[in-house]
Amino acid sequence: MARISINLSTGSLQKEEMIVGIDLGTTNSLVSIIHPDTKQPIALKEHNSSSIVPSIIYFDENNNVIVGEEARKFLELKPERTIFSAKRLMGKSYRDIKENADFFSYKIIDDDTESLVKVQIGNVFYSPIELSSFILKELKNRAEHILKTPVNKAVITVPAYFNDAQRQATRDAGKLAGLDVLRIVNEPTAASLAYGIGLNTNAESTPQTIAVYDLGGGTFDISILRIINGIVDVLSTNGDTYLGGDDFDKVIIDFWKRENNISDDTLHQDKSLYQSIRLKAEEAKKYLSSNESFETNLNSFQLRISKNEFDQLIEPLIERTITCSKNALKDAKLTQNDITTVVMVGGSTRIPLVKNRIGEFFNQIVNDSVNPDEVVALGAAIQADILAGNNKELLLLDITPLSLGIETAGGLMDVLIPRNSKVPTKASRQYTTQVDGQSGMRISVFQGERDLVNDNRKLATLNLTNIPGMPAGMPKVEVSFLINADGILTVAAKELRSGVEQQIEIKPQYGLTDETVEKMLMDSIHHAKDDIALRALTEARTEGEQLLKTTEKFLQKNSGALSKVELLDTANAMQALQLSITMDDKNLIQQKIEALNDLSRPYAERIMDEAISNAMKGKQI
Ligand code: ADP
Ligand code: MG
Repeated sequence: MARISINLSTGSLQKEEMIVGIDLGTTNSLVSIIHPDTKQPIALKEHNSSSIVPSIIYFDENNNVIVGEEARKFLELKPERTIFSAKRLMGKSYRDIKENADFFSYKIIDDDTESLVKVQIGNVFYSPIELSSFILKELKNRAEHILKTPVNKAVITVPAYFNDAQRQATRDAGKLAGLDVLRIVNEPTAASLAYGIGLNTNAESTPQTIAVYDLGGGTFDISILRIINGIVDVLSTNGDTYLGGDDFDKVIIDFWKRENNISDDTLHQDKSLYQSIRLKAEEAKKYLSSNESFETNLNSFQLRISKNEFDQLIEPLIERTITCSKNALKDAKLTQNDITTVVMVGGSTRIPLVKNRIGEFFNQIVNDSVNPDEVVALGAAIQADILAGNNKELLLLDITPLSLGIETAGGLMDVLIPRNSKVPTKASRQYTTQVDGQSGMRISVFQGERDLVNDNRKLATLNLTNIPGMPAGMPKVEVSFLINADGILTVAAKELRSGVEQQIEIKPQYGLTDETVEKMLMDSIHHAKDDIALRALTEARTEGEQLLKTTEKFLQKNSGALSKVELLDTANAMQALQLSITMDDKNLIQQKIEALNDLSRPYAERIMDEAISNAMKGKQI
């Protein structure tokens, strides 16, 4: 049996995986986490800037990608190279969007077939999945930059009405951005989680019926949810995919055009004027959410509007959302009085008239205490935290739905009890130490099918201490797993030479739904190829690190017996190996291992010979 070393108790500490929550919006996107100290969800932002990343992608002439606020100014300046509302294209064929093709100022490939749409920038084609992946990558980078740790896992939200193709497209976009998408969550469900609704899994908790009113930049969604014991049922959805904050901006632009006698032609010809007026209109709209009137000058134009005027202009738009809400209630076979809570989501719900009218319609004061721009992302972070196992209770199993094992060198998963084993069951295996005199061993127990423990779920950690000092590889540590009939896993570790032992009972920190288990299995199949490559890389790295360690030890003892050239060459070869370990190329590492071995073999043999002959000399014959 192969001897594998367990991660040391010192040094390589088990990294807690960070799962982020992402709101991939039509207009704006955000990434959030549960703050490790406060345990509260927060949207991530750089110092002095907003948590909001506009879902805008600009491709410069060399097809370099710029995402977010920076890309916004190109909407008018380079409309044919600036993508907005990519979410509207997810999982859609040209036929699906044909009616609204005018809405997009960039080129959508018109082959009028059932195949999925592509967007053409210069002579490059992008699928909506790729476009969304650019936004997700930006969010991933942002999170990694702020958290200063790699971010590889995410929960992403989608509208409740998204079909399977659109959900799959969103998943694929995540994968393309280097994110393992642990779950796709409905936006209204995420919003209610952020309001703390649905977190009570207590069997006695009273069922709740929630209306989630989401008015964003370009879309309106109303969802009626039923939440019982933490399980969310979408009773109905309704909305208007071309109604939102952009339309509110537009009524202001039109108002100013009338007041200042600006013709369509003028604006059509002067794109940068239009751009400036549009930005002023959005500024005015936001300002009027907390002020009575707005006024500014632009070139020779006086741009003013009062809150009353604005309210009158948007009244018909709000009425359209009320009509949708009525239909949603009807589809759910409910009336306003059945709704226990109305939750406000989306930047446009900051408009006081929106809140008032909706409150009036539902006959109650609406819930708007959580930032409407962030509420969906915050809910996604809460869902991520639940998936990370920080939030649920103990689970008893009768067969093991997933494999159980421990982490070995390089973060590899060594399975002791394979999935689908009947309980009770037990298994054990021997391991050894990596370092001379190592007195402790950290045994991390994981559940899952992936080759790297980081992709699996951590159940517990067991520390075996007080191992008597022995050279590396000498101790024999037997790790055994026992699952009793109640599904409780006990992990024990015993150093066989000294008899030192340690054991723990593992009460799983969380339960896994069937869906999650299935997902983890699917992932393992999906990633099998990656995993094999990664395993090979990890093994090469471990081998390289071990060789460096033994060479160093050898040099400490024998440097006197080596020539200057030999010392220098060895130092160089060690440095090259060290460097290769930091890179992702298995072959390179192996090459450097061989180089160092080839270099050290001759003098190692020479020194051995000398040692032997010295020993012989000392002997009296
Ligand atoms: P989406 O979910 O579609 O990505 P958001 O929920 O981020 O969009 O909403 C963006 C919209 O909210 C924009 O039209 C923006 O102008 C609008 N908005 C943001 N803040 C305010 C405010 N204070 N008053 C009115 N509208 C606002
Ligand atoms: Mg939104």
